[in-house]
Amino acid sequence: MASNKKLLILAGDGIGPEAMTQVRRVVDWMDKRRSVGFDIDEGLVGGAAIDAEGAPVSDATVEKAMNSDAVLLGAVGGPKWDDLPFAQKPERGLLRLRKDMVLFANLRPALCFDALVDASALKPELVSGLDIMIVRELTGGIYFGEPRGIEELPDGTRRGINTQVYTTPEIQRVARVAFDLAKKRGNRLCSVEKANVMESGVLWREEVTKLGAAEFPEVELSHMYADNCAMQLVRNPKQFDVIVTDNLFGDILSDAAAMLTGSLGMLPSASLGDMDAQGRRMALYEPVHGSAPDIAGQNKANPLATLLSFAMMLRYSFDLGDDADLIEQAVQDVLAAGKRTGDIAQPGQPVVSTSEMGDAILAALDKRAA
Ligand code: NAD
Repeated sequence: MASNKKLLILAGDGIGPEAMTQVRRVVDWMDKRRSVGFDIDEGLVGGAAIDAEGAPVSDATVEKAMNSDAVLLGAVGGPKWDDLPFAQKPERGLLRLRKDMVLFANLRPALCFDALVDASALKPELVSGLDIMIVRELTGGIYFGEPRGIEELPDGTRRGINTQVYTTPEIQRVARVAFDLAKKRGNRLCSVEKANVMESGVLWREEVTKLGAAEFPEVELSHMYADNCAMQLVRNPKQFDVIVTDNLFGDILSDAAAMLTGSLGMLPSASLGDMDAQGRRMALYEPVHGSAPDIAGQNKANPLATLLSFAMMLRYSFDLGDDADLIEQAVQDVLAAGKRTGDIAQPGQPVVSTSEMGDAILAALDKRAA
């Protein structure tokens, strides 16, 4: 038995805890059946933390997160906390975790499960077999650059300012994550910016090119302008393997890519930081969806995005690709068997509950592992 992994679970608000309950069953299954053991700790984040601890994430929880091998988060937010001032909202808990853990690389896979090709907004032949990974820079760029603000002008009008700014180390560290991923996948990386109109884009392109030549000559590197990339993602998404891009373009392009796969309830993500001297990388895994207050507490949520986030954790934090594959295959199996929560059901198709989806996953895992 390998040494136990320290896993912090922050289920959060709304459907977060319901989805997480099903994922816990899979974690326990892995714990018993596979060569991986977990020391699990739990904490509060978002509205749940505001109510119980007076802040969207407590210092103690941040400390635990920093000392964990990985964090698995459910979702935060809900109408109960909508009227709080911006700085006290549930989402600030998530933002603080990302900031304090310096999670600079956001990984958003867009994977189309065969059984769900009809759920995509695109034609089945365009998305069938789709498997792309978008790596978005998460802690720099225009969302954080200075100067920023809104200022009054002498003529009584106003000016809004944000600054797109990137340095060599910021570009290199996220590009390195993307090159590494490409090496483990189809060996192709497409770097996306707007070097035609932005100096930060020129720098981005030059630095990625230099890094590729120096450290990853075996990875096929291409470059694309962000506007063209948006078009190509809906025209011919299967041309991509890994895409790396900045914070702003990544925000938009990863959401566009998400819709290629059909439902928010199926989309996992990972946010990665730097590696420490022991080779441990700060990492937080979470579904892309929010707390879905409209269905919270009704046993209707699709737990698969959270489950697939756990699979990403196995793959990227613990190097347990076989166990991650097993979970992804179990998801394929239950979808192929026609199990659908409401978000991924076609009209007229029978719908299973959150817990029934969990049952089906465990049964599929048992069958695969038999
Ligand atoms: P949402 O993702 O919570 O929900 C959007 C729609 O998708 C809803 O109709 C919901 O029922 C459905 N949906 C989402 N996930 C689903 C799942 N797993 N299974 C079935 N259906 C699912 O987005 P929203 O409604 O814009 O936001 C609700 C709350 O979540 C807000 O407070 C928002 O701030 C917060 N939010 C949090 C995160 C996060 O925790 N990372 C992300 C987005 C939104």
